[in-house]
Amino acid sequence: MNKDPQERKRIKELEVMVADTIEEAHDTTTLVLFTGNDRLDYKAGHFLTIDPHQFEALGRFTAFLEDLKGKKEPPRAYSMCSSPHEKYIAITVKEERYTSGATKYPPLLSPLLVKQTVRGMHLVVTGFTGPYTLPDDIESQTDHLVHVCAGSGSVPNYAMLKFALANYPKLRHTFMYANKTWDDIIFRDALTDLEMKHPDRLRVVHSLTRESDSFRYTESVRKGRITAELMRELIPEQSNAHVYVCGPAITSHDRNAAKAKGEEPQPRFLESALAGLRELNIAKDRITYESYG
Ligand SMILES: Cc1cc2nc3c(=O)[nH]c(=O)nc-3n(C[C@H](O)[C@H](O)[C@H](O)COP(=O)(O)OP(=O)(O)OC[C@H]3O[C@@H](n4cnc5c(N)ncnc54)[C@H](O)[C@@H]3O)c2cc1C
Repeated sequence: MNKDPQERKRIKELEVMVADTIEEAHDTTTLVLFTGNDRLDYKAGHFLTIDPHQFEALGRFTAFLEDLKGKKEPPRAYSMCSSPHEKYIAITVKEERYTSGATKYPPLLSPLLVKQTVRGMHLVVTGFTGPYTLPDDIESQTDHLVHVCAGSGSVPNYAMLKFALANYPKLRHTFMYANKTWDDIIFRDALTDLEMKHPDRLRVVHSLTRESDSFRYTESVRKGRITAELMRELIPEQSNAHVYVCGPAITSHDRNAAKAKGEEPQPRFLESALAGLRELNIAKDRITYESYG
């Protein structure tokens, strides 16, 4: 992943202190991390990793899962929701669920980060890296960034959006964001605030797949998934828009499970969004994506 020697040199372990925890939704928490005086060399969209072995409280559970799976539990990646122009770094974690009969193993790290992390707690994180960032010359490539996200896939896009609004004045943004319900939307108020602050440069359109309150639906809150039709409406034809897509994708576990049944894995958000963009004939070099799968 990190072949570039410059990049390797930049990645380091940091001991951080949880300065604050913010409940973004019932299953999602932002951890604001204080790093002391370390110079923070990262780009909006980068992620850090957290090794579950550092948590004593998870010790027996980690060892048990390693025995079951026959391999060491790897560090988990978390995109930063903060932007380099902000004082603190922060990550936003959505708790993975265990559904009896559907999920093979209980999730290891995200429940602890979301529900049991308190102010003052110390963590070791390793960062910062990742290819899902804006090129420095983005303003010479496009004047319209389109963000297509689902669930916690909004985290790196939110960081890039904040960074670009502050640093790339020629860029305008369309932020398409899919969730199940109104209450699942992460950064909901923050996105509204940014939209009010930059009415000519930011349009946020939510899409909700399971919201039962019909009063929630408006011009900027659509019912259903982010379809090719919605993208066609929001991305002008023949435009030079650059699209950043992030959200759940088919995982290697999904692939193995489907193979065992002799089936093809079902497309998830990322595969469907990319198929929609292909229908719109958006050139591949105008699409950047990150998979959480
Ligand atoms: C680049 C990147 C950035 C990310 N950024 C974020 C972010 O900003 N916010 C966020 O919330 N998440 C993010 N993620 C996802 C995150 O890294 C974790 O995958 C997530 O938190 C789940 O971790 P967990 O330890 O709770 O669950 P895990 O223990 O990893 O389990 C997750 C699922 O995988 C299944 N599973 C695990 N091992 C196996 C196996 N051997 N066989 C079959 N099934 C298995 C489990 O049953 C469960 O359904 C990111 C991922 C990547 C790759």
